Amino acid sequence: MSSNSLSFTLNTSTRAEQEAAPSGGVQHERVIIIGSGPAGLTAALYTARANLHPLVIAGHELGGQVSLTYEIENYPGFPQALTGQELVEQMKAQAERFGARLKLYSAVTEVDFADGSPFRLKTDDGGEYLADAVIVTVGATARRLNVPGEKEFTGRGVSYCATCDGFFFRDQDVIVVGGGDSAIEEALFLTKFARRVDVVHRRDQLRAGATLQKRAQANEKIHFIWDTVVEEISGEDKVRAVRLRNVKTGEVREHPTDGVFIFVGHDPNSDLFQGQLERDEYGYVITDRLMRTNIEGVFAAGEVQDRIYRQVATSVGQGTAAAMSAERWLAEHEA
Ligand code: NAP
Repeated sequence: MSSNSLSFTLNTSTRAEQEAAPSGGVQHERVIIIGSGPAGLTAALYTARANLHPLVIAGHELGGQVSLTYEIENYPGFPQALTGQELVEQMKAQAERFGARLKLYSAVTEVDFADGSPFRLKTDDGGEYLADAVIVTVGATARRLNVPGEKEFTGRGVSYCATCDGFFFRDQDVIVVGGGDSAIEEALFLTKFARRVDVVHRRDQLRAGATLQKRAQANEKIHFIWDTVVEEISGEDKVRAVRLRNVKTGEVREHPTDGVFIFVGHDPNSDLFQGQLERDEYGYVITDRLMRTNIEGVFAAGEVQDRIYRQVATSVGQGTAAAMSAERWLAEHEA
């Protein structure tokens, strides 16, 4: 990764000239933040308070993954817990109060970082932008199982969001696939609606934290199917069954169910940056401690660059750091 060079300057004229002479409908911004999860909204708050008047290109789901989370119990300052949507709304209002602007229902489809700052970006609603600095906070997406029937029955019994779809499974039987924090947290949430929740895990030990494990084990609606993977999802108009295979004994059996909730991890949404930003073997954008990427003036924060922690609290911290680094970088390199 290259470090910031002190001799680097923005290849622009002055800021005032840029604003006075927009070319071909291209909107020029000091800072563009791509993504509107906790990292993005925090970066927006900090860059707004630094008078950088940031533009957040929010994507099609304001708040990203966190807005799909029913209850957040481990974000400091909220001892009574709050919903993901509430937290996102509060973060948005706070950033806007200091001058951040959010472009909703708009996603970046193209970036050009090769020629340095100002960076060129295009959005799916025909927008074209130049940004002196960019903060990438595009998050991650739930991983698929990639088994027959999964795609076909998505929205008809297969779901990746208990908060969104749990309500439709009132008094029904569902399975949850996975053994991490997400799987157990969502299994607990599903017990509010479902008659029975079977957690299907490929090992005989959960990956989830101790508190969640304890709560799941104490919940009489939750049952565990260990050492087992889902091989196929079947049904007619909607899901009716899954084919399960015990990985130790090889036994295969049909398990009737009304719903399949899949929580088997996430992949970073970094394809947009392929060939431009350095990524690790899993696709996470590589950053240093200052949240700098390999391109000077481009910073990244949150789950697109964090394979390890992936908490709201850590994303918020990384968004803060990225914003402060971007601010310093702009101040140092302004022509
Ligand atoms: P995760 O921790 O990576 O867990 C994924 C789970 O899915 C693991 O149990 C894994 O099994 C299983 N799995 C992966 N691929 C599979 C496949 N192809 N077939 C069957 N099972 C498969 O992902 P996560 O639960 O989404 O959590 C991600 C991060 O967010 C973690 O750092 C977690 O701590 C954090 N998180 C925290 C909270 C919280 O603090 N309340 C809530 C949600 C998420 P193995 O165990 O065998 O690998």
